[in-house]
Amino acid sequence: MICDNLAAIRQQIEQAAIQCGRSADAIRLLAVSKRMPLEAVLEAAQCGQLLFGENYLQDALSKIEQADKGLHFHFIGHLQSNKTRQAAEFFQMIETVDRIKIARLLDKHAAHFGKKLDILIQVNVGREAQKSGVLPDKALDLLTQAGQLKNLRVRGLMTMPPYGQDSEASRPWFVRLRQLAEQAAAQHLFFDNKQVELSMGMSGDFMVAIEEGATLIRVGTAIFGTRP
Ligand SMILES: *Cc1c(COP(=O)(O)O)cnc(C)c1O
Repeated sequence: MICDNLAAIRQQIEQAAIQCGRSADAIRLLAVSKRMPLEAVLEAAQCGQLLFGENYLQDALSKIEQADKGLHFHFIGHLQSNKTRQAAEFFQMIETVDRIKIARLLDKHAAHFGKKLDILIQVNVGREAQKSGVLPDKALDLLTQAGQLKNLRVRGLMTMPPYGQDSEASRPWFVRLRQLAEQAAAQHLFFDNKQVELSMGMSGDFMVAIEEGATLIRVGTAIFGTRP
């Protein structure tokens, strides 16, 4: 079931990429396994899915500890100060940095672990009160500050757009994130300005996200089914 879903999604990624003249290799699928048991992660891993996204630190750590070391995890939840140490230790990327305080803590912990930590800046493109993320007009400032931290590599931007009726409703928000990234890259605000990561698109709208330049799509329900 999980394998069938993964195969179908890989095919859709391929199709969306071809349609807009991109290479499917430039799009990474993050399997969002939040609130799913370890068994679901292992099943996905058996069909070649090695990259996972988790929102809740404790839940994630128990899976990461038990899973094969070849699996990679990105943190995609709201990150609190007191969780930054474990986040820096166990995740390959933190996609949800939205304030300088968190960036500084991650930098400090990354130094302690002797690693360079990949991060994304989460942008609240819809300026929604209930959502995390830096406001679009504050994003370049945060990128500038975070870019000076020696143990972080600011790879790109991430967003979760406002809820929409259909996938097309997400398009303008994805465009907004891409334009912001282009602006920031022109100012050399990323670690690698020629290869900027755009994490956008979920189960309902990842095809549109790919058309608008997503390099990372975060898909949960379409792979694992409805969460418990
Ligand atoms: C849960 C979640 C997803 C996956 O959502 P689905 O609709 O289940 O694909 C993606 N990104 C973030 C940040 C999430 O919290």
